[in-house]
Amino acid sequence: MSERRVVLVTGGTGLYGMAIRRFVESEASEAGATWVFLSSKDGDLRDRRATQAIFEKHKPTHVIHLAAMVGGLYANMAKKVEFYRENMLINDNVMECCRVFGVSKLVSCLSTCIFPDKTTYPIDESMIHTGPPHPSNEGYAYAKRMVDVLNRCYADEYGCKFTSVIPTNIFGEHDNFSIQGGHVVPGLIHKCYLAKRDGTDFTVWGSGTPLRQFIYSLDLAKLTVWVLNEYDSTDPIILSVDEAAEVSIKDVALMIAEAMDFKGKIVFDTSKADGQYKKTASIDKLRTFLPDFRFTPMKTAIKSSVDWFVANYDAVRK
Ligand code: NAP
Ligand code: GDP
Repeated sequence: MSERRVVLVTGGTGLYGMAIRRFVESEASEAGATWVFLSSKDGDLRDRRATQAIFEKHKPTHVIHLAAMVGGLYANMAKKVEFYRENMLINDNVMECCRVFGVSKLVSCLSTCIFPDKTTYPIDESMIHTGPPHPSNEGYAYAKRMVDVLNRCYADEYGCKFTSVIPTNIFGEHDNFSIQGGHVVPGLIHKCYLAKRDGTDFTVWGSGTPLRQFIYSLDLAKLTVWVLNEYDSTDPIILSVDEAAEVSIKDVALMIAEAMDFKGKIVFDTSKADGQYKKTASIDKLRTFLPDFRFTPMKTAIKSSVDWFVANYDAVRK
């Protein structure tokens, strides 16, 4: 008889979690595996008792931990204390429950925006703790950095198999399209939609010059399931498109305008912060394992996200 396998995905209703769900339901259904996708309605992971109750109920053998207080540059600048405290609580509860309940593998999620601000490029996995993060998101960054520290501590002290993935900027269907609180791609999709509908300018915040590597959520979902099944190290692994696929925020705005068929004027509000200029990440480590992995072209993924947003406008998170 095959071993019981229950994969619990925290944050299963978010951008990243929904992509894993779509991938698992369409392509990766493993015989005998049960997948549980959690929302905050299943229990507040800031609360230890609620977290324990979830682990008692589902008895997971594997955990993909995505739940977090998440936001774009402007939300991070405004709520540093909450980004630190809420994420520390969530991560502490999930990691400790994974230990106590004997979870055989935990994959947690970091982000390339937690790397040092002043650094050399490209960034790689060895550089997380080599300097302070950009001040705009230091609350979030230090909470996330502690996950990497604790992965090693849990391995040393308890022999736990905990690891982490480091995605670059993610986008796709089921994103948080809040203009004030969300990330750049969903924020710009929403703003472009309103500009087209209302016949107004499409306003991009900042200068448009910062550079980012964007990964489509479904590509990330495939890679994350591979990490769960095949990647054996405690050390983190960057999950991103290649360095050559880095684009400027202006490029992104143009792609969104094209996908939305927006013909009006695009303006840049330089009174708004640019945040970190770039955080170019190397995927040499990923390529040693998966040299042939093919990413969805960004224009194709943007078109798919824009179409999904327009089709689901009334229901999307915004
Ligand atoms: P998201 O769309 O905002 O989803 C967040 C998820 O976390 C939702 O399922 C939410 O549940 C859940 N959640 C939040 N607070 C919770 C709490 N107190 N208790 C239980 N569940 C809670 O975020 P995302 O973009 O998918 O991000 C997922 C992970 O990727 C995070 O760890 C984030 O730091 C990381 N990441 C994101 C990006 C990016 O560009 N988006 C880039 C790098 C790394 P509800 O739906 O019920 O609210
Ligand atoms: P970051 O990659 O962690 O900095 O987070 P974001 O996804 O919020 O991307 C921020 C970059 O996009 C900054 O350079 C912003 O100035 C720029 N940007 C342009 N328009 C927007 C917008 O409408 N929302 C957000 N969040 N960022 C925007």
